[in-house]
Amino acid sequence: MPTHMRFRRRSFLGLLFLFSLSTSALYFIYSAPGIVNEYLFMVQARGIQIRENVRNIGVQVIEQVVRGGYSISITDYPYVNVSDTEVQPTPFLPEDFTYLPSQECPEKLPSMKGRLEVNMSEIALEEVERWLLKADPTLGPGGLWKPHDCIPRWKVAILVPFRNRHEHLPILFRHLIPALQRQRLQFAFYVIEQAGNEPFNRAMLFNVGFKEAMKDLDWDCVVFHDVDHILENDRNYYGCGAMPRHFAVKLNKYSYMLPYQEFFGGVSGLTVEQFKRINGFPNAFWGWGGEDDDLWYRVQNAGYTVSRPPGDVGRYMSIPHHHRGEAQFLGRYTLLRRSKERQYLDGLNNLHYSPLVSRETLYTNVSVTLTRELAPVPDY
Ligand code: UDP
Ligand code: MN
Repeated sequence: MPTHMRFRRRSFLGLLFLFSLSTSALYFIYSAPGIVNEYLFMVQARGIQIRENVRNIGVQVIEQVVRGGYSISITDYPYVNVSDTEVQPTPFLPEDFTYLPSQECPEKLPSMKGRLEVNMSEIALEEVERWLLKADPTLGPGGLWKPHDCIPRWKVAILVPFRNRHEHLPILFRHLIPALQRQRLQFAFYVIEQAGNEPFNRAMLFNVGFKEAMKDLDWDCVVFHDVDHILENDRNYYGCGAMPRHFAVKLNKYSYMLPYQEFFGGVSGLTVEQFKRINGFPNAFWGWGGEDDDLWYRVQNAGYTVSRPPGDVGRYMSIPHHHRGEAQFLGRYTLLRRSKERQYLDGLNNLHYSPLVSRETLYTNVSVTLTRELAPVPDY
């Protein structure tokens, strides 16, 4: 959930734009900010410079003036095109390469072929289960799997935040599980389902999922994975590294370009040690937007940089969906400004919850009712 712009200073321009737009445009922006944001992304992706597009700037300014009660100045947010020319060809192992069960699995296996065929058609979970278990009966419960022919390099817990997107889950598993098997990782899936009537809190769900997963096994790597992100390349290796990793670099819905340099949404991964050190995600982001940007700041504040897969390896298709009445999180800019001071007050260390855990074949379901009282922060 990217936040498309940030505040720098108060600007009179914002108010100027406010008066230069018609009331109907205002109403549209007020009622459908998500649509406006996605529209803006598409426009920018097609190469229209934001500075030249006064109307769009106006739309963005107004959205903030109206919704946040602030006036702002827009900073440059052109798409960051990850240049393919910088990318070195990756040496993958040859087809006849052999390894032993007593050896650590290689990272660049010949089984990782690259581009995948993506199939977005809906399918029953049971059918995916049957198909995957037929291919390898050792899979599950909880989607737990480990390679038989070598020692996995990483034990990866894949956490999926979830509410009412049941048709997405089987599509995700159909693509991701075979890819992870070809990558010879040990893995399991945790679907963390938000119960109750509060706005969706993706970040807090990840914190819950992390704590629950760590009760099962000493995972060394955690991947935070939107349910609607389907990888397009199995060389996008889901192991961790010396630095936190951003996997979902190029998304079809953003015309396969990074929306902005600090974008850390969709699919990201940290070692358990890194995630603990940054105190996890913030718990205070209720509704759409901003929590992934805060994670970026947390990572920077702890002295890390973010690594990304090269070239087209980080391509994803997202399953089309509507924001069924989901609210934007209007307080996100205020919290983001205080990211650093909040980091060690709010996160893994102040979170309490009571989960309902059930073990399914392909994932562990963690159902949890989230409320603000579960993560108290003094003075906020
Ligand atoms: N999500 C969900 N139900 C919701 C809202 C969000 O399951 O009602 C989860 C889901 O994993 C989704 C992720 O949170 O992929 C990010 O939300 P969303 O897809 O709405 O964000 P966007 O794609 O607009 O950034
Ligand atoms: Mn989505």
